Amino acid sequence: MTDDVRADLTNRARKLLSDNDPATCERLKFLRAQFDLGLAWVHYPKGLGGLGLPRAFQNYVDELLAKAGAPDNDPLRNSVGLGMAAPTIVEFGSQEQQSRFLRPLWTAEELWCQLFSEPEAGSDLAGLATRAVRDGDEWIVNGQKVWTSGAHKAKWAILIARTNPDAPKHAGLTYFVCDMTVPGVDVRPLRQITGEAEFNEVFLTDVRIPDCNRIAAEGQGWQVATATLNNERLAIGDSQIPREGGMIGVVAQTWRNNPTRRTPDLHDRLMQLWVEAEVMRLTGIRLRQKLAAGQPGPEGSAMKLNFARVAQRLTGLELEILADDGLRYADWTMRRPELVNLTGGDAGYRYLRAKGNSIEGGTSEILRNVIAERVLNMPPEPRQDKNIPWKELPR
Ligand SMILES: Cc1cc2nc3c(=O)[nH]c(=O)nc-3n(C[C@H](O)[C@H](O)[C@H](O)COP(=O)(O)OP(=O)(O)OC[C@H]3O[C@@H](n4cnc5c(N)ncnc54)[C@H](O)[C@@H]3O)c2cc1C
Repeated sequence: MTDDVRADLTNRARKLLSDNDPATCERLKFLRAQFDLGLAWVHYPKGLGGLGLPRAFQNYVDELLAKAGAPDNDPLRNSVGLGMAAPTIVEFGSQEQQSRFLRPLWTAEELWCQLFSEPEAGSDLAGLATRAVRDGDEWIVNGQKVWTSGAHKAKWAILIARTNPDAPKHAGLTYFVCDMTVPGVDVRPLRQITGEAEFNEVFLTDVRIPDCNRIAAEGQGWQVATATLNNERLAIGDSQIPREGGMIGVVAQTWRNNPTRRTPDLHDRLMQLWVEAEVMRLTGIRLRQKLAAGQPGPEGSAMKLNFARVAQRLTGLELEILADDGLRYADWTMRRPELVNLTGGDAGYRYLRAKGNSIEGGTSEILRNVIAERVLNMPPEPRQDKNIPWKELPR
């Protein structure tokens, strides 16, 4: 960071703090002012909460504000919005869409969810059947989505729907922003293995979406969705954590707290996973540096794959360390969690929740296919359905 940039960021942070004393200022007012000064996500464009600077510079701002006791935007509450909707809207949205959606998204005034997966279309997302039919300046949407995390809290959803069943399956899709509070959107909880219901099935019946909430051109939905999914993998797999942070930190603490449960075998496995977690953390730093230099690399898929593998091994190891105590599950009542904290809860919760890590955001098998084909240039899986109109495909 040059001295000029550092001085500019420091001055902006000082102005924010002097105009909005964190001790007395209302939280939302502070967050809105932070956005307007370009200190929300400095790597986004000016006028959209950023300053067009490298992403890594945000850490400097966040540290200054945290030291002054400033509120944060509670990022876990709006992970789909921040990690997926926002970068997609910045890349593909119109100016009006960017101005309308990004500020309340960042401040978490409006939460977002992702209406992609369907009962018959998860890994094979491009096979989805939800239809959107044009009606003047609106689209009428009918279909069923599933595994929709946070749909019950969301104001907005990113949605992919089929607008042309005569086109091959990847070509007939269009990307929308759907208002989750309009008539025809029916959100029903799905209870999961942890006991809680993070996600939902969502039935869409004659839901009207104004054409101004279409993102990019009609038929361009797959291209936009691919960008969203790449960002999702980054958001899941690449959290910026300190050394021995995240799940390895939790399990290492369990190890330290339980000296009588230690065995040489558990010790070996913990050390092996400690090294793997550290390698992942360093890979994340390299990835962010390459992204900042405009060189997106293959690390995103690898990070997400390894994140799931290491989290599942670590949470399994923690149960072994805790022996009988690890099998006591604190609370299996049906809950609607306010946020998802993968390292929160007790050891049993962490173990069960980690099972989803190799499914959400693309399964590990699919990521291995992606790495094999796009990174290692191995021969692709045969895809006979590539040029066949979607409506003629067997279902
Ligand atoms: C905790 C959690 C949160 C989620 N949140 C959301 C959300 O908010 N919004 C949303 O839209 N979706 C969400 N999902 C859904 C998730 O994206 C899908 O579950 C995932 O894409 C897999 O799809 P599927 O469940 O239909 O499995 P399927 O696609 O039916 O796959 C079943 C199995 O077959 C394997 N498989 C399939 N195709 C291949 C292949 N070509 N090669 C090798 N193996 C293959 C898969 O790896 C998997 O093991 C969430 C899932 C979880 C677990």
